[in-house]
Amino acid sequence: MDLLVAGHKIAALQQGFDIGSSNLPVEIIDASHCYLIPGFVDSLVHFIGGGGEGGFASRTPEMQLTDATLGGITTAIGVLGTDATTRTLTNLLAKAHALETEGISTYCHTGSYEIPCRTLMGTITDDLILIDKFIGVGEIAISDFRSSQPTIEEIRKVAAAAKVGGILSGKAGVVSVHVGSGESLLQPLWQAVAGTELKLSQFYPTHINRNEALFQAGLEFAKAGGVIDFTTSTTNYDLQHGEVAAAEALARALQAGIPAMNLTLSSDGNASLPVYNDQGELVGLEVGQVHTLYQVARQAVLQYQVPLSDAITAITAAPAAVLGLKHKGRIAVAMDADLVLLNKSDLTIRDVFAKGRQLVKDGKAIVKGTFEK
Ligand code: ZN
Repeated sequence: MDLLVAGHKIAALQQGFDIGSSNLPVEIIDASHCYLIPGFVDSLVHFIGGGGEGGFASRTPEMQLTDATLGGITTAIGVLGTDATTRTLTNLLAKAHALETEGISTYCHTGSYEIPCRTLMGTITDDLILIDKFIGVGEIAISDFRSSQPTIEEIRKVAAAAKVGGILSGKAGVVSVHVGSGESLLQPLWQAVAGTELKLSQFYPTHINRNEALFQAGLEFAKAGGVIDFTTSTTNYDLQHGEVAAAEALARALQAGIPAMNLTLSSDGNASLPVYNDQGELVGLEVGQVHTLYQVARQAVLQYQVPLSDAITAITAAPAAVLGLKHKGRIAVAMDADLVLLNKSDLTIRDVFAKGRQLVKDGKAIVKGTFEK
């Protein structure tokens, strides 16, 4: 197929244009040795930094534009994390606007780990209705020692507020849920839905590959119609101590019969990753990397025999659908021109386009963030 981009949009998609012979100012890009796929949607990024669990010096730095674009990410959803005191929703919104100006598409969730949630306008509903960039709430934390130990009633109120805010603003009103390593796993979500008008599918739990028990609970959740998310940032220590590698988790979930549209990957980029030695002592901190998003999708194809289309769905169409981003994650006329060209030979990223503008060419960033050298 040939694909025509005009402005920010995909204008046409058909076999054989003869536009090269016209006198329109058209740039023609030969992609004959490539796969053309949608730009990646990273549904969970701490793009103003996160962490801080080891004191002030363990607060992680902000993400830079090319951290995302070199990894094929053209849409990023920013969230707060454990710390909603020194990290704020105003700062999150400002960074989202900065990244948008620099070249990619950004959205945010209002709220925080803790419930009652932090908000800008006073309520979750108001934030969703009145602030364009807010598309959901979260990540709220459950089954984690860092959570506010929310009651089931508190979780219900968050979901109900997000639902109404979503309906009135035409957004998904999704509740992003950080799930820790606590024994209650996903039980709080099942309990929140029971006996109410809430639906399981409004909750979008992440870190489901944290350990085998949570992975199994995640499969049950997905079989009931929910969308589950696997985290691609990791450390060797985590992988040696029970974490299911995200690529393996994706492969196993597909083998278990979960539809590809119910499975997503996210980077958890710029979160802090504690590093332990063999004795289990904390010896340092690493920063989650957004570029792991595509690394894992590629690994799923090359190492775990996941079909390329399913691996790509987990970082494009599936997250776009659960987040209600109607112009993202698919290649079709009138969709945003967020595109990635992969080299067919080794599935590496060659070119990246966001909103019709080329940001990466031959694997190199040709557009950089304001303060990047
Ligand atoms: Zn989290």
